[in-house]
Amino acid sequence: TPAPVTGGAVTPMMEQYIEIKAANPDSLLFYRMGDFYELFFDDAEKASRALGIVLTKRGKHQGHDIPMCGVPVHAADDYLQKLIGQGFRVAVCEQIEDPAEAKKRGGKSVVRRDVVRLVTPGTITEDKLLAPSESSFLMALGRVKGGAEHSFALAWIDISTGSFRVAETTADRLLADVFRVDPRELIVAEPVFYDPELKPVFDVLGRVANPQPPSLFDSASAAGRIARFFEVATPDSFGTFSRAELSAISGAIAYVEKTQKAERPPLSRPEREEQGSTLFIDPATRANLELLRTLSGNREGSLFKAIDRTVTGGGARLLADRLTAPLTDPAAIGARLDSVSFFRSETRLCQAVRARLKSVADMPRALSRLALNRGGPRDLGALRAGFEAAGAIAELFGEATLPKEVVSALAAIEALPRELAAHLMQALGEELPLLKRDGGFIRSGYHGELDEMRALRDESRKVIAGLERSLIEETGIRSLKIRHNNVLGYYIEVTANHHSIMTGSDGAKARFIHRQTMANAMRFTTTELAELESKIANAADRALAIELAAFDRLTAEAVGEADKIRAGAEALAVLDVSAALALLSESEAWCRPVVDASLAFEISGGRHPVVEQALRRSGEGPFVANDCDLSPEGGAKNGAIWLLTGPNMGGKSTFLRQNALIAILAQTGSFVPATSAHIGVVDRLFSRVGASDDLARGRSTFMVEMVETAAILNQAGERALVILDEIGRGTATFDGLSIAWAAVEYLHEKNRCRAIFATHFHEMTALAGKLPRLHNVTMRVKEWEGDVVFLHEVGKGAADRSYGVQVARLAGLPEAVVGRAKEVLHQLEAGEVSGKANRLVDDLPLFSVALKREAPKQARNDALGEALGAINPDEMTPREALEALYRLKGMA
Ligand code: ADP
Repeated sequence: TPAPVTGGAVTPMMEQYIEIKAANPDSLLFYRMGDFYELFFDDAEKASRALGIVLTKRGKHQGHDIPMCGVPVHAADDYLQKLIGQGFRVAVCEQIEDPAEAKKRGGKSVVRRDVVRLVTPGTITEDKLLAPSESSFLMALGRVKGGAEHSFALAWIDISTGSFRVAETTADRLLADVFRVDPRELIVAEPVFYDPELKPVFDVLGRVANPQPPSLFDSASAAGRIARFFEVATPDSFGTFSRAELSAISGAIAYVEKTQKAERPPLSRPEREEQGSTLFIDPATRANLELLRTLSGNREGSLFKAIDRTVTGGGARLLADRLTAPLTDPAAIGARLDSVSFFRSETRLCQAVRARLKSVADMPRALSRLALNRGGPRDLGALRAGFEAAGAIAELFGEATLPKEVVSALAAIEALPRELAAHLMQALGEELPLLKRDGGFIRSGYHGELDEMRALRDESRKVIAGLERSLIEETGIRSLKIRHNNVLGYYIEVTANHHSIMTGSDGAKARFIHRQTMANAMRFTTTELAELESKIANAADRALAIELAAFDRLTAEAVGEADKIRAGAEALAVLDVSAALALLSESEAWCRPVVDASLAFEISGGRHPVVEQALRRSGEGPFVANDCDLSPEGGAKNGAIWLLTGPNMGGKSTFLRQNALIAILAQTGSFVPATSAHIGVVDRLFSRVGASDDLARGRSTFMVEMVETAAILNQAGERALVILDEIGRGTATFDGLSIAWAAVEYLHEKNRCRAIFATHFHEMTALAGKLPRLHNVTMRVKEWEGDVVFLHEVGKGAADRSYGVQVARLAGLPEAVVGRAKEVLHQLEAGEVSGKANRLVDDLPLFSVALKREAPKQARNDALGEALGAINPDEMTPREALEALYRLKGMA
């Protein structure tokens, strides 16, 4: 804390400001002054720039002007949103006593202030700051040392809904796990954050990662912290957690406490996610497949946008959640699919449920705001609406046999607190104000004294109207009015030319007490009016106090039922998602996939969900459905690899992606865009598609491609699904071909996974002769009057040529260039690269074989021995000797 400057340059207020700011150095300080939050010094400069508001001055500090800017309290949410969006954190500092108290202390006393809340990207709850269909996660990374190794865990909370999960992770998959959840904020202990080994991870995450003091994560005191927060004896009562998990959970809770100060959000107990229970998708694949957002960051054009038919915010969040973490247990997937099938066959019920769901408000978010003391009457209203809709929905389900998931959803809805629902229905009025201090939200008939006070207030208003009439009569001034403002309260007003009737000391006139003289009016009061006024004011005050007490009671009751409300809301979200997926499958003609423990991958009539809808919208003609079969066949133990050739623009990428998306959708528990699908559960999905340029980080396209390919070849097992597009494109032809060639051999021999490999190296089709589980397929095209027509049809066999020149012509390359290119191509084709490739298949043993067999090495050694024997050093010139040495070296 800077010492006050000599010479009295620091005012007591500034002194207070500096002290509070020093305790919150990382945040912009919103310092409450009356109806404004003021910012000073650097904060003011940063905020005025970020918000585009005027920077002014207020007083001096150490001889310099103090820069200042301010935002009105009533509009603070909008400004907060902008600042949070730009990566700032904000400390909200309120007056925590009545200014009258400070005055009583006298002298230079300033109103006591304190930070009541830190607003950070991961801890927002305001509706305005949250997208209804997106979760907003705060994530904490725990790391503990066990022996020589570190173990890691992630805990993540959506403070706006209370959901809380935890999972173990490893340094290798850390980034993938963070990307899956896509938190707004990841808090990390400082020593972990600054660990050079993890630097690449935090570099990628940028400002999402937020270093915090290690004490928050201390695994020794974690159990105690967690137990205190949930008011239980020990966290063991909700599962066994590893030390790393405890550290992560503790970090998340400690940060919530740090940012929310005295308030406590109703968090659910941390739920443990088993590693391997969800489909592992590496970050590049996740980004490239555009599951929730496109590569450019838009929701429009993503898989989510194409399949989302939910009608509630909770439903949309659940769908997004499921889509980012598809399951790997066939039984669990089957249970979800059963619900979708059920709603698909019960069309009328499906529609009725959806119609009712539309009036379900966002209960978990309303509950969180109430618990954090940021709620209003409309949040109670949201709970009431939710209870009402939930009751009506439960009644729609008859005696029919219901799928398991629906049964448990209905049970959770059944278990919603009826008493609270009844209380809300009895207490709340129809039209609800935004702020509780506006009053008027409690229904009449709910509280006797409240009704009395309101009657008194309204009655007195009538009495005042009567008084006005009698005064007009008495004075004969027709324009006399009884008015009200906040300074004078009720007063009698007459125009200036009438004042003589009111002023004077004789009997009647003496009743009028002069209050104020305006330019052309005079204001008076009477004892009678003053008495009426205080009656009204008292009644209104008392009425509001009763309403606020009722509000607090209802809020406490709701927060006490948090677990049940959350479970009920989750159940409604499950119904929403199932019904929405049923509707989608109906309108898009999708089918129910068979998902089991086999290694099958057999898709008939598969389509790309996003491209299909886009083509329909633009009227560019129908999407051509294609089959894909990677299932083990002919007694093979492992799945197959499809080598896909075909011209650019032929539809290769679309086909590759659609099969990955179908696997994701199926394991999400959704129907899929196909006429039939049989999928043996995929445990890891890898792709190397599109050009996710990483040039900004100083890696060439080729480098990125190789890094991603390396990750795939090192990690994919036989249950994986691998989608590779144009490996080796980023380098010289022979380099590229060689790498692609070796990668396919490796996939076939080592990874033994199901894969589709698209390539423009036609030479590679020769590999099918060598690798039994490799099949050539090609995108069909038709030549028509010298042009190429894309059929977008996948057929057996290899493309006989690449049609690159024709595609270039379609793109509008000058005729002369196209003509010349054809000539060059002719020459090159005469050079017969593909002939060589065929020989390669015959002559070059598979490298996996090469690793096992010693014979070739033996042969080479013999040749070396022969060559050595043929050398006679005494007869050689130094130059010849050197050449021989090089030759020998080349043979080794
Ligand atoms: P490639 O990867 O072979 O260059 P793309 O997959 O990018 O080709 O497809 C090129 C275009 O062809 C796409 O933009 C899409 O509009 C169209 N297309 C692709 N597949 C199909 C299909 N199965 N049916 C209809 N149009 C398709």
